[in-house]
Amino acid sequence: MGKEQTIVAKFGGSSLADAEHFRQVKKILRQDPARRYVVPSAPGKRNSEDEKVTDLLYQCYEKASSGADYAPVLQKIRGRYQEIIDDLGLAVSLEGEFEMIEQAFVNHAGEQYAASRGEYLNGILLAAFLGYRFVDAAEVIRFNKKGVFEDERTNFFLSDRLINIDRAVIPGFYGADDAGNIHTFSRGGSDVTGALVARAVQADLYENWTDVSGFLLTDPGIVDHPKKIDIMTYSELRELSYRGATVLHEEAVFPVRREGISIHIRNTNRPHESGTLICSTIRPEDEVPITGIAGKKNFAAVNIAKNRMNAQVGFCKRLLEAFEENDISFEHMPSGIDTISVILPADEYHKKKDAIMDSLQRLLAPDKISIDEDMALVTVVGKGMRSVSGIAARFFTALGDAHVNIKMIDMGSNEINCTIGVSNQDFDTAIRALYSALVE
Ligand code: ASP
Repeated sequence: MGKEQTIVAKFGGSSLADAEHFRQVKKILRQDPARRYVVPSAPGKRNSEDEKVTDLLYQCYEKASSGADYAPVLQKIRGRYQEIIDDLGLAVSLEGEFEMIEQAFVNHAGEQYAASRGEYLNGILLAAFLGYRFVDAAEVIRFNKKGVFEDERTNFFLSDRLINIDRAVIPGFYGADDAGNIHTFSRGGSDVTGALVARAVQADLYENWTDVSGFLLTDPGIVDHPKKIDIMTYSELRELSYRGATVLHEEAVFPVRREGISIHIRNTNRPHESGTLICSTIRPEDEVPITGIAGKKNFAAVNIAKNRMNAQVGFCKRLLEAFEENDISFEHMPSGIDTISVILPADEYHKKKDAIMDSLQRLLAPDKISIDEDMALVTVVGKGMRSVSGIAARFFTALGDAHVNIKMIDMGSNEINCTIGVSNQDFDTAIRALYSALVE
């Protein structure tokens, strides 16, 4: 007999926002017995006007720890869970938990402790509803006392604990240090917990259930009904997320990527839809030339000119030093013979512009420095671009036809991305033109 299949299923906040969604989650889990480990978020928004429990917890803690009246917010939070308990008829009471939480808030237990209670309480309810074991993330997800996540220790604790538990609910988003203080990942961090559990149990698949049917090829706010991405590699996902396409927490990729576990993004409300599969490699027949188009506005280009720059050994090193000493991580560095530009987020440039200028003058003594503060970056990502000729021609013709002026071009050495810089006001036009030329 082969090894029993194991799937880790993470459900986002909107997938667990109320009793009806709890029922839907149970239905999904029952459909495949391999779905043995479940990672829940805190209850999210039930509609667009609603509030996420995590946000309410931050608010409540802020009030409680500063001596303001926190009772109404706490009551709201309690109400969210009580509604789920009542509707599902669960034989669970969270009264004792809420007493402890209130005490801890008043005694300044910390913002991260406060935020983590959303997942903790939801985990208790979900485990009771499913009949799965509840494993408190504070016992298995390890941070050091400075709040830095501990990768290998977590893997050890998690796998050691879960090896003998057939079905468990492990709340997302938080863990603890050895003194028992709670630490959280950054917002959206339940995705990370799901990936850590998948790694620890050597899952066959990490399912990430959310309220969209996967990654769209581009921003639906710019292009009407863009196509969905059916399948992509981890590297393509990295490129797209970096450029602003957000469905999954950035850090969620690493634990599963190293083990070759695929991530499947699925829609809780439309489980029959195929979602987006993210894996290490794609069979050539599944490859499409363009996987996605993403971008961000508001970058600045610092352009430096110096005669015979090309002959000066170490010029680039000193240029980067100027940014390093101001603690700036740059995006691109296109160059000519006697000119070079560094592209960085415009707000970062604004905050530090005097210091940057001082460093550049001191380290490089340039002939001229000019700044272009109006740049948006648009990236086209696609592993298939490597093997198809004529893509670049279509790319630039589309932009030319749409009267978009290109200020910068950068093609990554792995040939899976091509980034252009355009003026902020051309951002939407550029994305629409690229989408219709390369995808439609
Ligand atoms: N509940 C947390 C948040 O709202 C973590 C998560 O949902 O992943 O950010």
